[in-house]
Amino acid sequence: MRTVAEHQAVVAALFGPPVPVRLPVPEALGRATLADVDAPLSLPGFDNSAMDGFAVLAADLASAGPDSPVTLPVAADIPAGRTDTLTLAPGTAHRIMTGAPLPAGADAVVPVELTDAVIGPVAAAETVTFTAPVESGKHIRRAGSDIGRGARALPAGTVIGAPQVGLLAALGIVEVTVARPLRVEVLSTGSELVEPGNPLQHGQIYESNGAMLTAAAIEAGALGRHVHFVPDDTGDFLARLDEVAGEADLIITSGGVSAGAFEVVKDALSATGSVEFVKVAMQPGMPQGCGHHVASAGSDGTAGPTVPIITLPGNPVSALVSFEVFIRPALRTATGLPPHRPRVTARLGADIRSPQGKRQFLRGVLRTDEGGSGVVVDPIGPPASHHLRFLAEADALIDVPTETDGLAAGSPVDVLVLR
Ligand code: AMP
Ligand code: MG
Repeated sequence: MRTVAEHQAVVAALFGPPVPVRLPVPEALGRATLADVDAPLSLPGFDNSAMDGFAVLAADLASAGPDSPVTLPVAADIPAGRTDTLTLAPGTAHRIMTGAPLPAGADAVVPVELTDAVIGPVAAAETVTFTAPVESGKHIRRAGSDIGRGARALPAGTVIGAPQVGLLAALGIVEVTVARPLRVEVLSTGSELVEPGNPLQHGQIYESNGAMLTAAAIEAGALGRHVHFVPDDTGDFLARLDEVAGEADLIITSGGVSAGAFEVVKDALSATGSVEFVKVAMQPGMPQGCGHHVASAGSDGTAGPTVPIITLPGNPVSALVSFEVFIRPALRTATGLPPHRPRVTARLGADIRSPQGKRQFLRGVLRTDEGGSGVVVDPIGPPASHHLRFLAEADALIDVPTETDGLAAGSPVDVLVLR
């Protein structure tokens, strides 16, 4: 039997290092930058007003007070977007809006609320009166005060989220170098499977692993495609694998790898010798397999592509827990993303039992305890591997160490936070 850590290493080794690709900024969302991004321009690009108000020369208001108001003529009106360059003559004010370029010669902005001017879209006042002095530099956003031209905007390895998209767009950047997303094709097996939307006969079930694992791949940052399923027939299975191999960076199969009589994946791929089937000391998810699928030669004799393949057990809980433990970290590392879910230590909300000799991943729900003194995880659902409902309710996996056979409520446990 392999340990979880040993099999994680084998799965991770199926992938090469992240491959750089240039993507338009919106498409780079959720991906990791593979090169530093330096600012091609400064932000702000020019001195501008931080308030709606009046651009002035602070010295002109030095004597302003409640009993000694200073009134200046309003010589110009500067809305945001005005592109000509203006100069403020001493002894005048310019009405200026937030984000509008500061006229040369002005060194402060007085917010409209602090003047006698009317707030709102009225015709420019002829004069404006101030009853307090203003500090030089007040309410001015200086060019480059956010980021200077040539400064590091995003270091390599940054995961692009909404703020990073905002910064790149503000810098006028349209393309960015990120890790190429991996294409994952999910192929389920089972003669009992029926596509949702069709009627079921007795003994049939709706195919769910394909949809679920495709969603998991997409959540992990891959381009997932649900190839659907084939019956338990090695010929059908291998033909379908060959079809998808050309378009995939990883093929995930579900089902057909345990010890039953119609183990289509195991039977088909044991014969090709390219996939290793092993037992991993974990629950759920003991039967695992991975390797490289070498697609059959084309009709013109050219060699078929060789694609990493991971064969997951068919029980839905086993399949998704296996994905979490082995595939998600490997996929993320191969695309430059942080590999792991956050891990926290929580106190068990109830007693648990665990098979000795197997690392167990139990479904759990996190909560903050009443005293607010820490995080509690309540185990939910039985350990059997068909309980999709509890999987859907869980927001955590409780990682119970291999040699533990049980833990009492209140014991600290290591928890993978799923959501
Ligand atoms: P297997 O690993 O093929 O022996 O399947 C184990 C259990 O998981 C059986 O109860 C199957 O019916 C179920 N199962 C296998 N594949 C799927 C699937 N794609 N969707 C839903 N259930 C499945
Ligand atoms: Mg099956």
